[in-house]
Amino acid sequence: MRSVSVFGATGSIGESTFDLLMRQGGPATYHTVALTGGRSVMRLAEMARALQAEIAVTAYEDCLPALRDALAGSGVRAEAGATALAEAADRPADWIMSGIVGAAALVPGFRALAHGTTLALANKESLVTAGSLLMAAARTHGARILPVDSEHSAIFQSLLSEDMDAVERIIITASGGAFRDWPIERLAAATVAEASRHPNWAMGQRITIDSASMFNKALEIIETHEFFGISPEQIEVLVHPESLVHALVGFRDGGMIGHLGAPDMRHAIGYALNWPDRAHLPVARLDLASVGRLTFAAPDPVRYPALRLAREVMETGGLAGAAFNAAKEVALDGFIAGRIGFLAMAGVVEEALARMSGVMALGKAPETLDMILDTDAEARVTASRIIDEIGRI
Ligand code: NAD
Ligand code: MG
Repeated sequence: MRSVSVFGATGSIGESTFDLLMRQGGPATYHTVALTGGRSVMRLAEMARALQAEIAVTAYEDCLPALRDALAGSGVRAEAGATALAEAADRPADWIMSGIVGAAALVPGFRALAHGTTLALANKESLVTAGSLLMAAARTHGARILPVDSEHSAIFQSLLSEDMDAVERIIITASGGAFRDWPIERLAAATVAEASRHPNWAMGQRITIDSASMFNKALEIIETHEFFGISPEQIEVLVHPESLVHALVGFRDGGMIGHLGAPDMRHAIGYALNWPDRAHLPVARLDLASVGRLTFAAPDPVRYPALRLAREVMETGGLAGAAFNAAKEVALDGFIAGRIGFLAMAGVVEEALARMSGVMALGKAPETLDMILDTDAEARVTASRIIDEIGRI
């Protein structure tokens, strides 16, 4: 029986993963090792009971009593905290979903790779912050990383049985997010509620706001660079409001292979879960005749400064990705908390990178995960300070 674990089971990716596991037979098909979540302990317990998991872990120690109560009599072990999360990743499983949001997924991801698992990687921050180390860890331990971000799953599928040497360019598409049709003048006053409404995809709040600011696409450009080992100049972004073409690969003979599908993450998750096979998946089938037309446009660099920042981060390389992601997470927290405006997020990230490159060699290649975690912590302090300064003006 195949063993699985789901990190971030209670999130948007986690719920879709759970849905697929249950549809594909649940505990009759899979032996579930660990499920993890945050404060939604009732839901976590419900999932753990349904899949008869060995262990359920909440990231928060104060949630442990509630989780224990909810699991009473189930035979599922309840644990809490960052150490328990990392230890849950030490428990061998054949297939592990990395569906925690943010840099918090890093430690469990590395620990999971150490036992040679197949890591289904929804968490793009892992590649942005620690791409070279993560890919090296997978090689060292004979583990496999399968991309789950829809664009990267699309690229992966477009590259099946192709030679990377023949690839000229990779194009990832962007919906344009909640504000794609807003006049730029209105963006400064955009609210959290407005930024949290994605036109096409139902996702967690953080990635939805990152889609409106294009920080999500900025992370994905870096993710493409790190995962597929392709140079930054070969990666392009196209705004594609229909979100039906997820990525295109252009080859040296001028041909392109792309991937189309409904905007439903269960495709990419289901692909990674059943790889190398294709299983029947409960996603909508496209009726292109009724769609009628697919539209594409170049992204406006003034509207989306995050895309320029991603290019600068790749040019610096080394630890810059870790600093970029952490500063972005803090800026996003600042926006969600109402401390800074929507447009100020990019300014905070740019300023944090500038200040950090003044005091350390951001381009230095990371040798250890600790170097990355230290840079992450330093970038959080720097970005928080910048937000405090903005608050005082
Ligand atoms: P979400 O906010 O819906 O869920 C996040 C999950 O992580 C929850 O289970 C939460 O409890 C857990 N979590 C949050 N903070 C944690 C912490 N500090 N420690 C441990 N656990 C923590 O997020 P999501 O939208 O499901 O996204 C998850 C990841 O997948 C992100 O990296 C995102 O960029 C990526 N992704 C998501 C989608 C999508 O459709 N939602 C698409 C592509 C990629
Ligand atoms: Mg994506």
